[in-house]
Amino acid sequence: MTDSAPVDLHCHSTASDGTARPAEVVRLASDAGLSALALTDHDTVAGVAEAAGEAARLGLDFLPGIELSCSFPRPGTLHLLGYGVDPASPALLKLIDEQTRAREVRNRLIVERLNGLGLDVSWDEVLEEAGAGRGENDETRNGGTRDNATRDNATRDDAARDDAARGGGATIGRPHLAAVLVRKGLVASARQAFDRYLGGAGGAYVDTNRLSAERAIAAVRAAGGVASLAHPLLLRRQTPQQLEAMVRELAEQGLEAIETIHSGHDADTVARLTRLADRLDLLTTGGSDFHGSAKPGIRIGKPAGREVPRGFYDRLLHCLRRRRATHRGRPADAPTPAVVADRPGRAGPPSAGQPLQPWQQGSVMNRS
Ligand code: AMP
Ligand code: ZN
Ligand code: FE
Ligand code: FE
Repeated sequence: MTDSAPVDLHCHSTASDGTARPAEVVRLASDAGLSALALTDHDTVAGVAEAAGEAARLGLDFLPGIELSCSFPRPGTLHLLGYGVDPASPALLKLIDEQTRAREVRNRLIVERLNGLGLDVSWDEVLEEAGAGRGENDETRNGGTRDNATRDNATRDDAARDDAARGGGATIGRPHLAAVLVRKGLVASARQAFDRYLGGAGGAYVDTNRLSAERAIAAVRAAGGVASLAHPLLLRRQTPQQLEAMVRELAEQGLEAIETIHSGHDADTVARLTRLADRLDLLTTGGSDFHGSAKPGIRIGKPAGREVPRGFYDRLLHCLRRRRATHRGRPADAPTPAVVADRPGRAGPPSAGQPLQPWQQGSVMNRS
């Protein structure tokens, strides 16, 4: 691995719907010869600490990230990537907690609808599925060693609250529901599960997401991060002009980057989105959207066979560093100066016994 080696800024782990543990994702990135990685699990930062530790051990540059699902009219999908976020930011944790609750309401409704369609699926099976991929000694749940499947309901609720207080638990999503349907032989494949039941046109589709992009962007920025629009084509705007108008609107709300390189983007799309970023003076981000064996066609560090240049990571870091320089005072969501000073990488010195995370160290931040 050299400092000019490519990077991957869009990866999922068992903290959401990926199949590789956070530390494994980092090892795969290192084995693939990448020089930097961002972990961007759906609506959680629960995998960040484990990934950061492994990245430090292997000498890989690491950015804590998140992919927030925002409300958007069907058939479009609006996902916002947040980079360099402080995983302990109160504003971000509050939003994650709300998303987790909304997801549980939605997931339970989907199970009810599936039952209404005559499919024998229970909420416990979904929990088991989401826990199953996470290994026995589950650090993904931020230090927790409890096994989802063995919790009774009351303990589970308590544990969920603990998780939220510590930085969010693991995210449960439709891919876990799809996996249950496949495992029980109720559908032939995850694809069929989405086509028939879980997708926008499926019989059990439920959308309860009320998170506005504006609020998601604000939370990422309050957490000290840079917001990037993930896979912009999935907004499914009819024309390039409509896409541009939407991106402009998001940029006015504080969006600072768009994802140009992605496993779903062909060469033309990459070129078009790169020109759009140039025109709107936005940074570019890129990544594979790696999900492990849940999306077997996707290789870490090789979105659609391409590579994401190291410069994407360096420019993001540069922007984050500038942000910190202008934020010498208190960030917008800072609770009290004492708490902020206690946290590394912010206004004050790190507290004893709490090591600086790699992305919080001046040497890494000052490298670009
Ligand atoms: P959720 O966040 O629970 O709404 O689920 C979103 C996840 O489901 C994303 O990771 C998508 O990749 C996956 N997904 C959405 N639509 C499909 C589909 N038609 N086939 C397979 N996976 C899908
Ligand atoms: Zn996913
Ligand atoms: Fe996404
Ligand atoms: Fe993703």
